[in-house]
Amino acid sequence: MITCFDIGGSFIRHGALQEDGTVAETGRVATPGDDWDAFVAAIAACAADNHSPISISLAGAFDDRSGIADVANIPCLHKRPVLQDLQTALGRRVLIINDANAFALAEAVAGTGRGKAVVFGIILGSGVGGGLVVNGDLIKGFGGVAGEWGHGPVVDPTAGGQLRGLEHYPCGCGQTGCIDAVCSARGMERIHTSLHGTALSSKEITHAWHAKDPAGSATVEAYAILLSRALSVLVNTLGPDVIPVSGGLSGDGALLDLIDRKTRALVLAQYPDPLVIKGRFAENGGLQGAGIAARRTFTEVSA
Ligand SMILES: [Zn+2]
Repeated sequence: MITCFDIGGSFIRHGALQEDGTVAETGRVATPGDDWDAFVAAIAACAADNHSPISISLAGAFDDRSGIADVANIPCLHKRPVLQDLQTALGRRVLIINDANAFALAEAVAGTGRGKAVVFGIILGSGVGGGLVVNGDLIKGFGGVAGEWGHGPVVDPTAGGQLRGLEHYPCGCGQTGCIDAVCSARGMERIHTSLHGTALSSKEITHAWHAKDPAGSATVEAYAILLSRALSVLVNTLGPDVIPVSGGLSGDGALLDLIDRKTRALVLAQYPDPLVIKGRFAENGGLQGAGIAARRTFTEVSA
């Protein structure tokens, strides 16, 4: 029985791969972030048996070719050849896929992108990420970072107009002006502080916007302008049929509608239907994507 894992900074979710290709979640445990031996023990304890392969969705960058993970919020995995080390420690085959890629794959195969040629799944949450699936195939790209549109100093939040008062925010990757630094939930909070001098959570800000509060509305407007500008370049480049969204901000339908309208107004193609929509697997894309990847990789699983 293949066990699938969705490994995040706080929790390890696990589930059993079913014959129909879905993954039935079986539970979750706290992630032992600082302790490799405890991490290995937690994975072994959650697996259905002690020999079958396991498939992991990891909340961080992962390069297939080197087998090395880049996941700063789970220190015991960070910069470690985690694929090789886990296979050795567990004595079984291991598959690892980045969580944004897992989400995009799940959407393309069984979600909002089913039957569509180009699916660009995006994460809007504690960070900004994404994954690209073309004709059912996950595009990994050089270094395994295809679809990671959150980094690179491309945003100029000081461009004036409705953006007056914003700053160049530093990003965790070492640059400033990254999409991740401005368009994540934390980015929305930074924008609010710059514009209004008060600190609110992203939930409080969107709540204020829903209540037609002028400050909250100005923040969400600036946020949506910056996000749609960046996204429009991606839309023109990739030609996606759909952009399913996951992450903490994907639960706000009105926010996604706003981002969708602004993005479609900036792109070359005329989309008759909403393009930026909540993913079917917005809450469990990691597990479901790990399951799909496992069915494609491990031959003992009936396809
Ligand atoms: Zn960055």
